[in-house]
Amino acid sequence: MTSSHKPSTDGVCIEEVQTVFPARNTTDEMYLAFTSSLQRIRDADNGVLLLATCSDSSSLHPEVLKRFEENIPLELPTLPHRLALLHYLTSSSHPTPLNLHPIAERSQAFRLADLAELCDSALRHAFSRQGDGYGSSVTLVQEDFDAAFGAVEIKASEGGRYEGAKVEVVRWADVGGHAKAKTLLKESVVWSFKNIDAFKRLGIAPSKGVLLHGPPGTGKTLLAKAVATESGANFMPISIPELIKGEVGESEKAITRTFTLARRTSPTIIFIDELEALFSRHENMGDAGKKLFSMLVVEIDALEAGSGVVLLCATNYPGLVEKALLRPGRIDRLISIPPPTHRDRLSILQTLTKRLTLAPDVDLAVLARRMKGATGADLKEVVRRASLAAIAREGFQNKPVVQMADFQAKEVRAYGGGGVAS
Ligand code: ATP
Repeated sequence: MTSSHKPSTDGVCIEEVQTVFPARNTTDEMYLAFTSSLQRIRDADNGVLLLATCSDSSSLHPEVLKRFEENIPLELPTLPHRLALLHYLTSSSHPTPLNLHPIAERSQAFRLADLAELCDSALRHAFSRQGDGYGSSVTLVQEDFDAAFGAVEIKASEGGRYEGAKVEVVRWADVGGHAKAKTLLKESVVWSFKNIDAFKRLGIAPSKGVLLHGPPGTGKTLLAKAVATESGANFMPISIPELIKGEVGESEKAITRTFTLARRTSPTIIFIDELEALFSRHENMGDAGKKLFSMLVVEIDALEAGSGVVLLCATNYPGLVEKALLRPGRIDRLISIPPPTHRDRLSILQTLTKRLTLAPDVDLAVLARRMKGATGADLKEVVRRASLAAIAREGFQNKPVVQMADFQAKEVRAYGGGGVAS
């Protein structure tokens, strides 16, 4: 800070200021030293700018935070920003027909530093693939980015981004069946991100919360990921075990942090799976559960309609969820995800087998009919086992051809309610 008195200095930057003045444990001496240094900078009136960086402003001593006139949250780049940044970061390579859009989608929740690391890693891969040394020009291809995604470990920093940020890209086409649920999700979530101006013009408030309910394995989580991909939103799953571990009061803070971060990084979908496990009927909640519940309600109520944040939840037991959560203005859109019908099962089997080579004798409609009662998860397992049976027969050498008999192997028959037996 002493250097700030020299008239030639334009600015002073304190990086990670919260490590010097943490929210807890900042001594009076440290605080006084800081405020008097700040006062000296002001008194000197020589145009010196004091700048500080902090990964999470709530971890900074509140009195120190107050001393800064501006508090500028830096947001995670959205899909269009990521695309523009990727174009910029790859501009030194040869212009190529490589479509950067899928890469921007896949790099959901990457910070600028992560994107830079991703592009560096892709460039390094491209140079070693070309084998002409680093001095030559390079052409980036998809394979370079595929390798880079495997190599770049995105870092989670307290409050700066969320954990579990790497989310699978799931398209509507990857979810078999559920035509009605997909339409309802488009209307209740995708529209609220993409057509917010139209909602405002018509004076209609989009839902802040949506609940997917249905038996286990019917594809609720898969649908939630598809909604995030198709709406270009960030996907922020809240893990219940993560939420309930830790010190007293930490869970409430985690809820607040999640919503704060979701608002900053909007459009964002906050996803809570097994909602009833944490927010069952009020009389069954423990004291800790009640506090957490109150905090969640406060956060949902504070969300402005059309803020670009939607709370998407899933449960197998909608009747057990605390009713106060399901009131209008909170989680007020309930979407049923029932066990698949015959037509759904056929569509799911077509989706799950689209990358396999099927022998001409494989009749998916027959399999769908025989597997009455099977969920999407059951069908996935049946397809997996049939593929393994084909590999066991043909080996790994060529792409194995899956035959109808593979779907009828003994262990396969155990799945799908009525079984696959002919
Ligand atoms: P739970 O209630 O137990 O959490 P869920 O309803 O969330 O289950 P998912 O986890 O989404 O079910 O699905 C389990 C697996 O089954 C997923 O890996 C998914 O790939 C597959 N699956 C389920 N439904 C479908 C579907 N309709 N189309 C394609 N795959 C599906």
